[in-house]
Amino acid sequence: MDANALVAGLNERQTEAVTTTGGPIVVLAGAGSGKTRVLTRRIAWRIADGQTDPRRVLALTFTRKAAGELRSRLRASGMRDNVVAGTFHGIALTQLRQRWHDRGITPPTLLDRKIRFVAQLIGRRARVEPLDVVSELEWARARLVAPNDYGTAAEMAGRTPPLPAADMAELMELYQQEKRRRRLVDFDDLLALAIRDLRADVDYANAVRWRHRHLYVDEFQDVNPLQYELLKTWRGDSNDLFVVGDPNQAIYGWNGADPQLLAAFARREPESVVIDLNDNYRSTPQILTMATAALAGKSGALVPHKGDGPVPTLNAYPNDLAEAAAIADAIKMAHTVGDSWGRQAVLVRTNAQLVPIEQALADEGIPVRVRGGKGPLATKEVKDELRSLSRPGIDLVAALSQLDASLTVGDDTTSGPGNDADTGPNAPRGKTAADIEREQNLAAFSRLVHEYLTIDPDPSGPGLNAWVATLQAGELDVDGDAVELATFHGAKGLEWEVVHVAGLEKGFVPISYAKTGAQLAEEQRLLYVAVTRAESELHLTWALERSFGTKTMKRQPSPHLEMLQSAIAHLQKGHRPIDWKAKINLNRAKVSSKGPIPKKTERNPVDDPLFDALREWRRDRARAADVPAYVIFSDQTLRAIAKRRPTTRSQLAGMPGIGPVKLERYASEVLDLVSADVAAG
Ligand code: ATP
Ligand code: MG
Repeated sequence: MDANALVAGLNERQTEAVTTTGGPIVVLAGAGSGKTRVLTRRIAWRIADGQTDPRRVLALTFTRKAAGELRSRLRASGMRDNVVAGTFHGIALTQLRQRWHDRGITPPTLLDRKIRFVAQLIGRRARVEPLDVVSELEWARARLVAPNDYGTAAEMAGRTPPLPAADMAELMELYQQEKRRRRLVDFDDLLALAIRDLRADVDYANAVRWRHRHLYVDEFQDVNPLQYELLKTWRGDSNDLFVVGDPNQAIYGWNGADPQLLAAFARREPESVVIDLNDNYRSTPQILTMATAALAGKSGALVPHKGDGPVPTLNAYPNDLAEAAAIADAIKMAHTVGDSWGRQAVLVRTNAQLVPIEQALADEGIPVRVRGGKGPLATKEVKDELRSLSRPGIDLVAALSQLDASLTVGDDTTSGPGNDADTGPNAPRGKTAADIEREQNLAAFSRLVHEYLTIDPDPSGPGLNAWVATLQAGELDVDGDAVELATFHGAKGLEWEVVHVAGLEKGFVPISYAKTGAQLAEEQRLLYVAVTRAESELHLTWALERSFGTKTMKRQPSPHLEMLQSAIAHLQKGHRPIDWKAKINLNRAKVSSKGPIPKKTERNPVDDPLFDALREWRRDRARAADVPAYVIFSDQTLRAIAKRRPTTRSQLAGMPGIGPVKLERYASEVLDLVSADVAAG
């Protein structure tokens, strides 16, 4: 393919990201700004340009689904399947298998029933949910926390250990030992083993580095320290690394991801080239207004490129079933004959919420597909429960009421997802995120069984099993055209013309177990991820009442709805979509918001108020750091800034005397001064 064709249709900054040499290169940019597009184009461009042998490329992403997406985008750019694209785990496993094969080693067994395995280790020493212990083991592993450091690390991260920290540390040891003894490996061992092999054998490491010498990582904000360690080992001392990410979309902190790795990249790597992209190509200005409202204006605003679209909607319904039915109607409304159903998606915060929606759509004859197939029916707890309820001869009614009772032990635990009770004095004691998630899944399952009992005149265990299997058959229909159902997490990186975001209630958005500032901030970013999936239509819904198992609970609107509602009100009045960035800067500059922002004018730096402001800022900075002023920035640099008035990081990066370290340290303050000056005229 012609190299020029690969940069056609890219903006200046994107072209720079595709063609620039040197590195490592880090692209920091908001949703829909073309990060993934730039990443795939860069791979293709360097191949077309003869700089890269496609077989030497390794493109890493976060999930298998994302890797598939990457491969299909590469194919669309004219690449055949000779570029390796995969997840950290997938690539590590491939390398290990090859190595085991080459050295005649019998591969260890993959530990697939981790919960059971851990349950045995816990034995009768404590009354604790094995699943919680597993989550905690995985968190510690992802964070590279050694057993000895567990107590301190858990405290610093604000974790609630399922066991006393000392016991947890002991269990971490025991878990590793037992696996070693029985020659079992878990998923994270794959990463650790790959690292160990590379470190132990220089020749092998060199061969691997030669083979994958051009490294690319999408969604870098969700990389955890263990994955980062593997990346560093793959990389060796090469600078041939290209990463893209968006700090505002970091949504895997709970799982051990560390968005600081992205933020600190430029600081840690003096050679790095930082590129930011400010234009959004995915969404209408109306949707971007909502996106910025979702983050309460905390993000740098993105410049929309799409034309205007309809004003997003926000509706409340009396209960979850009415909400689901209304979504089905809205989907039909947005669907005209000849369109594909796959243009539309319904996004929710938790797996359990997928069930009533999936059913409502199916009732209306709308084909649906659950992204990643990870509905509650696919969870371990539901599969186990189904197995036990499917036995021939079982008294289903009795078994079901037992299940319901187990879901509603003690009234304080029925708070379920986000009843206010769990933030108040009646907070369920000892309930962890995993408990709540599991209960939600089982509750969703319980409702299915209740429904089965009303449908089948002669209910039986095997009858239930068969009926559930038919539901799943729909779920697994992956090839046909269908409306997509996904959790916010599962929707990352994807886009649809019409997006319905459901269940915008306290307890889901934010999730009930988010308590610390960091957790709540992550929940807010999740909402941002959901909203920014939409290209032209966005519909938001919530329900005043929701069933949870056999109970019905009153629901409160998500606290974020206030901002979203006011953004909608603004748009409905026919105002232009909100230019949040200008608004925020105006406030900061304490200038009345009346009157347009004047255009940039060339001014003589000598009597330029910006130059004065910059010098004043430099003086304060120098005093605070106790260094001479020129260490912060030279006069020449300040003069250049005052003259060119950069508005973005990459413009600033191109100026004399501004290296990556200074950029990382001072860019936001300098850019604020510039924009305040522009706003003040
Ligand atoms: P996310 O943060 O959600 O992963 P992203 O930054 O990776 O988003 P992309 O998915 O690469 O963004 O791009 C968003 C959409 O905009 C895609 O449909 C892409 O094809 C389109 N796009 C990107 N750049 C351009 C451009 N210069 N011209 C036209 N369309 C573009
Ligand atoms: Mg992307």
